[in-house]
Amino acid sequence: MRTWLGNVCGCVVVLWGVASPLTAEEWVSGKVWEEPPVVTPGQNGAPPSDAIVLFDGKDMSQWEGGENWIVENGYAISHGGGISSKQKFGDCQVHLEFAAPEKVEGSGQGRGNSGLYMMGRYEIQILDSYENPTYFDGQCGAIYKQHPPLVNASRKPGEWQTYDVLFTAPRFDESGNLVKPAYVTVIHNGVVVQNHFEIEGASAWEKPPQYTPHGEKEPIYLQFHGNPVRFRNIWVRELRELGCQEGEAKAAH
Ligand code: MG
Repeated sequence: MRTWLGNVCGCVVVLWGVASPLTAEEWVSGKVWEEPPVVTPGQNGAPPSDAIVLFDGKDMSQWEGGENWIVENGYAISHGGGISSKQKFGDCQVHLEFAAPEKVEGSGQGRGNSGLYMMGRYEIQILDSYENPTYFDGQCGAIYKQHPPLVNASRKPGEWQTYDVLFTAPRFDESGNLVKPAYVTVIHNGVVVQNHFEIEGASAWEKPPQYTPHGEKEPIYLQFHGNPVRFRNIWVRELRELGCQEGEAKAAH
């Protein structure tokens, strides 16, 4: 009897679950959104149709200081100093590929060191972290001296690796006060190593992170740290929120 009642109750619950959407009115937000633009995705890491290509394997003309780097075989080798993108970016998505030198030299921070600096000051560490111990918040995928990568997803020296970065720029008011910090998500070789991390300020080796006011858009900087780190396929997508107005409720299709 108890079993039978249980079955009846279960049946009633199921019937309610099915019946309720049929009688309810659809809820609509009332927001009138701008239509999302159409973007053609790239194949296998190639830039999507709306990307700004900063290095396509041919030349470093998109970079201040790029003439110092060595371009060969479709990649660029860091050399003679850091480089800054001529174009400036705020909120953006960055894709780049890098490879630590195949011939292992040095150790710790001296091995395959470079860095991707968002807005020229917030460093996502690039390092050969394959079986190369160093301080955790300085290894590959770290927000330098702020937060270690969640995992070590490094490939072997000489192998190509990917960074896909989602970056939200900090906001300052007119007096230069920080009103919203920067956030960053980093995917290293397809693995999340930073998940919407709240950046604490500009990265420095000799002092704690600190915010100082800067422009809404700033260059991307790639570090030269004395090691011949290779780069290829660098592109950026500027991220812009869709326009939205409050409007009359409109039924969805
Ligand atoms: Mg570095």
